[in-house]
Amino acid sequence: MLPFFTEPYQDELLYSAIGRYHFYSCNIDCKDTLEELFQNRNVIPSIEIGSHLNILSKQIGTNYSVQDLLLKHTIYPYYAPFLSQNRQLEILKDVQNDGKGLYTRLGMVAGSICKKNGLFYCPVCAQEDIKKYGEPFIHREHQLQGINLCAHHHIQLEKYKIDMKMKSRTEYIRFERKNLKLFVLKKNENPNYYDIEVKLAELAYEILNLGNNKLSREQITKKYRLLLRERDLITPANHVRQKDLFKAFREKFPKGFLEKYDSELVIDDEYNWLKVLTRNSKRHVHPFRQLLFLYFLDQDCNFFTKMNEDEGPFGTGFWPCLNKAADHYRELVIPNVAITRDFKSNSPIGTFECSCGFIYARKGPDKRVEDKYHIGRVKQFGEIWEAKLRLLSGEGNHSIRELGRLLGVDSKTIKKYQSFKTSVKTEKAVNEKSFLMLNQYKKEMLDAIQLNPTYSRTQIRAITYKQYTYLYTNDKEWLFKNLPEHQKKTNLHKKIDWNLRDQIYYKKIRQLVKELLCSEKPVRITRSLIGKRLGIQSSLENKRKKMPCTQKYLDENTETIQQFQIRRCCKIIDEMLKKREEVLMWKVQRIGGVKSHDFREIKPCLEVYQKIQEGIFYDKKTI
Ligand SMILES: [Zn+2]
Ligand SMILES: [Zn+2]
Repeated sequence: MLPFFTEPYQDELLYSAIGRYHFYSCNIDCKDTLEELFQNRNVIPSIEIGSHLNILSKQIGTNYSVQDLLLKHTIYPYYAPFLSQNRQLEILKDVQNDGKGLYTRLGMVAGSICKKNGLFYCPVCAQEDIKKYGEPFIHREHQLQGINLCAHHHIQLEKYKIDMKMKSRTEYIRFERKNLKLFVLKKNENPNYYDIEVKLAELAYEILNLGNNKLSREQITKKYRLLLRERDLITPANHVRQKDLFKAFREKFPKGFLEKYDSELVIDDEYNWLKVLTRNSKRHVHPFRQLLFLYFLDQDCNFFTKMNEDEGPFGTGFWPCLNKAADHYRELVIPNVAITRDFKSNSPIGTFECSCGFIYARKGPDKRVEDKYHIGRVKQFGEIWEAKLRLLSGEGNHSIRELGRLLGVDSKTIKKYQSFKTSVKTEKAVNEKSFLMLNQYKKEMLDAIQLNPTYSRTQIRAITYKQYTYLYTNDKEWLFKNLPEHQKKTNLHKKIDWNLRDQIYYKKIRQLVKELLCSEKPVRITRSLIGKRLGIQSSLENKRKKMPCTQKYLDENTETIQQFQIRRCCKIIDEMLKKREEVLMWKVQRIGGVKSHDFREIKPCLEVYQKIQEGIFYDKKTI
């Protein structure tokens, strides 16, 4: 460890702190400084980020981790939220070592715009630094591509006087007071642009100081979509209305602005940056252009911290079949939703089609979890429903009204359907079981495909043999439409990205648990149930260490038998209170099906629960 290090000031570039260290260490040869800091005489100084940070962080003491240095003293955070999760991890690895490949990964080489040739400063910031610390230093927020104003003082940045070409490659520049213009303020070049430039500078500074909030391009893209959807710039089929977007975007900026900032757009160019940015593309878009887009969407830093991601107006599947005549009533079996627009109100309409023949639709967007179980209009009842109606009518002991209740419709509908001539199909017993099986297997197949994105058809077949065979015999067309594309052999052994898979599993499991908790018949939430439902049992069991996020979630959310008993009984208490019944513990035990010696253990807990709930219940009543 070094005997001393020049502690970086807030927002000081690491590069600048090293420059000051060189000065105070009284080294004459820069190579000696490199040796001391990096134990390597051949490190090449980099203004924006740097390399060999793991050695550096060890040398300068325990106060700084590599991540700290990266987040607080480089311009990396300007780029980070717009990079994929994968790339962020690669960069972290890069800067610990020699940093080769880093600039390509950041997209700087491929996509540099508004490149700065030199080091910049704000005269007022410099004055304040000298007053406060006795010396000026290099602020990272003044070196960002595309940002020409100081975010704090809203004045034009000055270029530090030094000829970068004359400087040796191993030398670190330190700001010296004598070279700074502290009082000459540049006039803003174009007053029409000023307000936007101020906003962009502020936004950039906020992004730099977001801290480690783990945002990535994947999430940002979803947030963008949500905002575009609110502005009606997304079609019901989920495409961006590129022409309208283009027009609105151009109108937001004064003439010449986009050109000045290397961001002009050509509508016919399939790869214009606005299209790339709003498409689900892997191409990198420069952070400054992301700022322009955020400005267009009227977003401030809240964008990065608060807003939700877009999951579409009806959330993510699966959706319940709401056919009261089917055994799978309210079970989540429908994998897709078809979304159209209501002609008059322009609201999205979701149509849900179950393979039992029942089709319903409702107006969106859904706002609460319960909305998932709401029918706007039944479009088709289907064979199972009609068969049940015939069956019940045939029994002859149900009134029309009762039939309506049993089948989830009004009396008028019952009469209408009863008057239909009984079709020949009554002869053919409708085999609901096969419908159900088909549904269930489709669901399991889709899950297996989604959870194993790198798998080929053959690999998918191997892990879903039962489902595959059944679907092959009964709905080949569907099967082939949904299986992954044929792959070339080389892709088969692609390395698994465990981090990504961890995220996907985590999300999928969280969604499933949410649904399981809402299901009418309570089921105990266990690892093996989740594994089975999602077809990922073996990964969950064997790759625990590789998926920390998923494991943590499972540890916290799976239930012991006792926890499950308690949840079950609490639900029963809730229902009794809702019906204004007296809560009797023996009754709770009986309905909950809990053995006496088990019930004795959980009873105190239930009594407390009851008291709390009654409190809530009565409070509500008095309001
Ligand atoms: Zn300033
Ligand atoms: Zn159904």
